[in-house]
Amino acid sequence: MNTKSPVQQIIHPLFSAHQISVAIKRDDLIHPVISGNKWRKLKCNISAIDKATHQGILSFGGSYSNHIHALAYACYQHKLPCIGIIRGEVEYAKNFTLASAQQWGMQLHFVDRKTYRRRNDNDYLAELRQQFANYFIVPEGGSNTLALEGVGDVINELNQQAEFDTLITPVGSGGTLAGLVQADNNQHQLLGIAVLKQQGYLTDSVNALLGEQASKFSNWQILNQFHRGGYAKFSAVDVQRLLTFKQQVNIPFEPVYSGKMILALLDLIESGYFPAGHRIMLLHTGGLQGLAGLCERKLLNDEEWPLPEYFTE
Ligand SMILES: *Cc1c(COP(=O)(O)O)cnc(C)c1O
Repeated sequence: MNTKSPVQQIIHPLFSAHQISVAIKRDDLIHPVISGNKWRKLKCNISAIDKATHQGILSFGGSYSNHIHALAYACYQHKLPCIGIIRGEVEYAKNFTLASAQQWGMQLHFVDRKTYRRRNDNDYLAELRQQFANYFIVPEGGSNTLALEGVGDVINELNQQAEFDTLITPVGSGGTLAGLVQADNNQHQLLGIAVLKQQGYLTDSVNALLGEQASKFSNWQILNQFHRGGYAKFSAVDVQRLLTFKQQVNIPFEPVYSGKMILALLDLIESGYFPAGHRIMLLHTGGLQGLAGLCERKLLNDEEWPLPEYFTE
């Protein structure tokens, strides 16, 4: 598997007008199925599995989850049994994400919202350990301390690939940002764009993942004003703006994660947030499989938002 992803310069009239240089690290190209940050986060989790003590992996996700999709494929590749605890109803099993996961051998267990909310509670985890003995439990989104090291490879690669001042990434659970912060070790500015509505708990989640060393790192922050209504929410204007950008630069994005980072970048540059001469590196975290579910639900039009060819070949 090609793990070192390319860096590409983005040419765009807004960037040149403000004399900002923007490049993007294409983690969406790491692997056709297990793209982006989910692959980075799973890598060390999978190597940590000792087949003598663990029979497989159990994890959690929504019915369109990039993490569930990536985990199912990674386990299929490593011949590891896997179980997905899915928020939602059995009918969802037919959607693109979950149909693929099942095809790769993932066992799906659907739970209601109330049960799903207990996904990090010790008593619920203890119940799951009884029900599914010997399964290694990975939290939602794959964000645990093992994930940080895998994500840190982004920085190790970038240090050989490019010079930049600020690295920008979308933030869902905070695992990716935490891994970047730890590996970067105060070399660059790191900006996280929260893709969901929250009052700052994500900063606590990142600090919790960083653990004792958290206070060493001062060069990062999460911007909370770019969620556009909440997780997976976006307006028709947002979609149009992103579509135009995607066509101008000829790079695929989806509006839940990478697209929200792009819209935030455009807003920040327009507002003069970055000084002239600033060099920005974007992390393309992948997640393009999510386009299928958005098109299935008619939230996007599949002619304008096709899945990358490697999904349909
Ligand atoms: C999960 C995900 C994120 C968010 O990563 P966290 O580590 O949960 O903050 C960003 N981009 C994509 C494409 C994702 O699937």
